[in-house]
Amino acid sequence: MNRALMLLIGVLTAGAFAAEPPARPKQLRAGAATANITPPLGQDIIGGFLPFPGTHVHDELLARCLVLDDGNTQLAIVVCDLLGLHRSVSVEARRLIEKDTGIPAAHVLISGTHTHSAVSALGEMPRGYQSDTELDDYQRFVARRVADGVRSASNLLRPAQIAFGTAEAPEHLFNRRWHMREPVATPFTGRLDKVKMNPGAGSADLVEPAGPTDPTVSFVALREPAGRLIALLSAYSLHYVGGVGAGHISADYFGMYCKAIEKLQPENDPPFVAIMANGTSGDVNNINFRTPRPAQPPYAQMRHVAEDVAAKVHAALKKASWKDAAPLGARYRELDIAWRKVEPELLAWAKDTATKSTGPVASKSLPAIYAKRVLRLAQASTKTKAPVQVLRLGEICIGTTCTETFSETGLEFKKRSPFAQSFLVELAHGYYGYMPTPRHFEWGGYETWPATNALEREASVKMMDALLEMAKELKADLK
Ligand SMILES: [Zn+2]
Repeated sequence: MNRALMLLIGVLTAGAFAAEPPARPKQLRAGAATANITPPLGQDIIGGFLPFPGTHVHDELLARCLVLDDGNTQLAIVVCDLLGLHRSVSVEARRLIEKDTGIPAAHVLISGTHTHSAVSALGEMPRGYQSDTELDDYQRFVARRVADGVRSASNLLRPAQIAFGTAEAPEHLFNRRWHMREPVATPFTGRLDKVKMNPGAGSADLVEPAGPTDPTVSFVALREPAGRLIALLSAYSLHYVGGVGAGHISADYFGMYCKAIEKLQPENDPPFVAIMANGTSGDVNNINFRTPRPAQPPYAQMRHVAEDVAAKVHAALKKASWKDAAPLGARYRELDIAWRKVEPELLAWAKDTATKSTGPVASKSLPAIYAKRVLRLAQASTKTKAPVQVLRLGEICIGTTCTETFSETGLEFKKRSPFAQSFLVELAHGYYGYMPTPRHFEWGGYETWPATNALEREASVKMMDALLEMAKELKADLK
């Protein structure tokens, strides 16, 4: 080819590219729906230390589902009224979703709220320490209903605008881990802790909380261009509130918050769906330890929290600035973080304690319960396959963990994420116990005990590294 011809082709090609209008971001679409996942009565409720059968449905348990479509990529976000869900439930639900709707499994976020008034979708109780499990009837039902909810949300996809916002609600949050004046007894013979979980409210032994709280409610709102809300996904770092009636099934404050926000909107069809995910609340609850509160009738305190947080988010929503486009993206990984090792001395203690603790009283003692849990942890599967995920909704970034994650981890992600509008959702795609940050293991306390904590000490560091790496990849995709 001669030089003149090459130049001519060069000019023509450059011209062709120049003539092409810059790719306009496509109109975002969103749809939302709920699916009922209330179990039959008579199955065991698992929020308490020992399970007991459900005798009354106070309010229905739901899977609250949101589907987003930017014209190229689809995402689904589901929050279930469950204490948590086994990894295999998420795997099965996402398999069904991909089959039914074409949304890739890696683009679907499924988490539990951590209501303590639900039956188990966790697998072998109380803690299985297995990455894969055969689904029981209820788990199969939950997976099916989650997929149905996403399919219904997908049926309702319509043009949408998106906004991000935050509201501050520090007054309902208390770090529940306290440094104490005196060493604290544990179920493990000869071991004393420096930190106590849920110490007596008003106790003279309280020194200071062993960690922060995260007072910021983050939310993502979707509305029709005409202005009616489609969905509102929020995340607040509060373990749960509790105070339900005996034997009651309830979505706790998470469900009440959603109803409160929904009540503040005009009724419409398709109905607006509010969603409250658990942020990072492994060490934060609603008990005022310094200044004890008088006991209240059932549901009073959770209504107070739910309605107050809903009012704050509703007010913040008025200031939101809306966008028509939001390029979507997702990254999903399963990390080979190790299960926590059971040292030979601990194993010997567990075997000895389990053998000695027979009879109706001794077998239910704290040491006996922990001995059994430790023995189960020692049988853990070889790989954890700990799932982590990051979703990008335009300039908004949502990361997930599969543990009861401490608030300091959530705060760290918000600070270090390459996206200014970032937050974490815990208890997604699996239940792998509490995940204290490394410093907490020196202090001890319930969340650090073997079997309550099921992952290696560096788990929070490894998860954070993976989350930030995936967030960076998604940020780079935007350019
Ligand atoms: Zn918990």
